[in-house]
Amino acid sequence: MKHRIVVLGAGYAGAYAAGNLARRLSPLDTEITVVNAEPDFVQRMRLHQLAVGQEIKAPRLADVFEGTGIHLHLARVTAVDPERHVVTVADAAGGGEIGYDTLVYALGSHVAHHGVPGVAEHAFDVAARPSALRLREHLDSLDKRGEAGCVLVVGDGLTGIETATEIAESRPGLSVALVARGELGARLSGAACGHLRRACDRLGVTVVEHTTVEAVEATRVLCADGTPLASDATVWTAGFEASPIAAAGGLEVTDNGQIVVDRTMRSVSHPNVYAIGDSVQAIGDNGRPLPMSCGSAGYTGRQAIDAIVGSLTGRKVARTKLVYTYNAISLGRLDGILQTVDGEGRAKPKCVSGRKAALIKTGIIKGALWGTSHPTLGRPGRRRRLAAAPDARRGSSRATA
Ligand SMILES: Cc1cc2nc3c(=O)[nH]c(=O)nc-3n(C[C@H](O)[C@H](O)[C@H](O)COP(=O)(O)OP(=O)(O)OC[C@H]3O[C@@H](n4cnc5c(N)ncnc54)[C@H](O)[C@@H]3O)c2cc1C
Repeated sequence: MKHRIVVLGAGYAGAYAAGNLARRLSPLDTEITVVNAEPDFVQRMRLHQLAVGQEIKAPRLADVFEGTGIHLHLARVTAVDPERHVVTVADAAGGGEIGYDTLVYALGSHVAHHGVPGVAEHAFDVAARPSALRLREHLDSLDKRGEAGCVLVVGDGLTGIETATEIAESRPGLSVALVARGELGARLSGAACGHLRRACDRLGVTVVEHTTVEAVEATRVLCADGTPLASDATVWTAGFEASPIAAAGGLEVTDNGQIVVDRTMRSVSHPNVYAIGDSVQAIGDNGRPLPMSCGSAGYTGRQAIDAIVGSLTGRKVARTKLVYTYNAISLGRLDGILQTVDGEGRAKPKCVSGRKAALIKTGIIKGALWGTSHPTLGRPGRRRRLAAAPDARRGSSRATA
């Protein structure tokens, strides 16, 4: 029987890992199945652009994996049972169970409501394509009404900044406010922060600082000091958490649902499970958790691929880089900030800003799309046979941490 590798999720992390595993392991003794809810590759980094009305490329996963030998199963994962080594899915045919020998968990993340009442009922978000499209429809209806509708973006992390500036630039008829719990851009250098404030001024984004939103209603939010802020569309970008499926299945996870792993991305509670991308709490080479980001999806994916290939083929597992080096932030289509960070994850004093940063960001996004959607190109790698030992074929713990 072939060794069954099942990859859950075909986002930046899962699609990249599946393609590279297929390139490096022989199809004579491994079979790779990818389970994903949607038929297309979703460029999640561009969902704020989709929300304002831009058309964003979404390559079909069937085309992405064509010729790789990967079996694509379009289905929603509803449960994992790491004791029985099965995944439960719901699909057009009703669903069922898929067995695995090695599981790669890459189901990404969704917005964290933090228990704030009304978020689920009244707020919009840009964390997934369906929700970004819902926001787009709502922005269209506000635009059509012709009155200057008010959009409130809650959360001044990178997603909040990108979303507020993108809406302001694309929908000049709407008034946009960005609500920050502390000072705007607190994690950026002074130079980057100054640039961000000037960009908000230029685009007409009102910045509301030192404000915590405690409830979301249909046409307003309520702040911690009782102040109401009027809103025709509240966009919630105040944090992300991992899919709850891992925790429900009994895998060891952190408070925000990320799977706890060793240095090779292998679950500390269930060694046949690897986690990558937003789903994993990976401790970087600086001793701190890597942020949820496309860069982290690449680094954790690469480490997991090396660990799985090494472990199954009886080779030493390479220790790959796990680093966090910069943030590339778009401020609409023509402006941006590239902020490098030091070994401790703190902003370095200098930054690149303006048109140049916007071009760099565009290049990063194109590179990420290319890397995940061309799994058969690039470094070919030998397609290795598995080691004969039955424990290796079953994905035992031969990897070195
Ligand atoms: C608007 C926005 C802008 C961003 N900008 C940047 C940026 O500029 N730079 C950066 O580094 N990061 C950015 N990020 C974060 C980045 O997109 C994520 O860190 C990255 O997508 C994580 O990759 P992933 O593969 O773990 O998850 P995802 O890319 O989310 O992929 C998860 C996959 O799993 C599938 N899936 C989820 N649940 C199920 C289920 N139950 N069953 C089946 N399939 C399922 C999804 O359909 C998806 O295909 C941004 C995020 C957002 C929302």
